[in-house]
Amino acid sequence: MNNNKYKILLVEDEENILNFITALLEANDYQVISAKSYANAKIMYASHVPDLVILDLGLPDKDGSTLLKEIRATELTPVIVLSARNEEREKVKLLDMGANDYVTKPFGSDELLARVRTALRNSRHSTNKGHLPGGKFAVGELTIDYDARQVFIAGEEIKLTQTEYNIVAFLSENCEKMMTYAAIIKAVWREYPSDAGIKKLQVNMANIRKKFGVRLGESSYITNELGVGYRMNGDK
Ligand code: CA
Repeated sequence: MNNNKYKILLVEDEENILNFITALLEANDYQVISAKSYANAKIMYASHVPDLVILDLGLPDKDGSTLLKEIRATELTPVIVLSARNEEREKVKLLDMGANDYVTKPFGSDELLARVRTALRNSRHSTNKGHLPGGKFAVGELTIDYDARQVFIAGEEIKLTQTEYNIVAFLSENCEKMMTYAAIIKAVWREYPSDAGIKKLQVNMANIRKKFGVRLGESSYITNELGVGYRMNGDK
């Protein structure tokens, strides 16, 4: 057995999906261990200590979110949730419970592989993506000087308000992770999330995007998933 391979625990009760994902991951040089129930997954997780968990929510004995909660109680192992339910409220709930990402069935091979790579990269370098020595952050042409609280794009300073800066800094500290509205509001305003809080966040975000000079439909430094949250992208 090659010990340099990432070990992925795949929890999925549907045979055809299990086989499909296993073949896909193995073809891409990952080691796969699998479980078809919550009970079995718990045992496999404890005995194999995987680098990543791909977790189906609809398991025969318990909802997959139970396992997510139990993993998060003690571990930072990345977890990608698989679900047939494409509901914003559920995505928010799972991300707030500590899921790293969320993939809705049916999904394409490329999409799943991209999510796997990102989740593994985040875990290996924790929050280091884009972070440079000396309290600086850089992705593409965007740079942040945390000490000076300044943001630059292509060397030109982008004048942000204190609140706008705090949002951008928070997203950069969690680069490549989808941060829910609730997480951002708690970090930036130290408030419990409310509809008014989300409005306030959206207004600030619209101003940030304007200042960043992002036109509609262009790839951008910050991705908005409607009804869920925002993510600063690590690749430009
Ligand atoms: Ca299922």
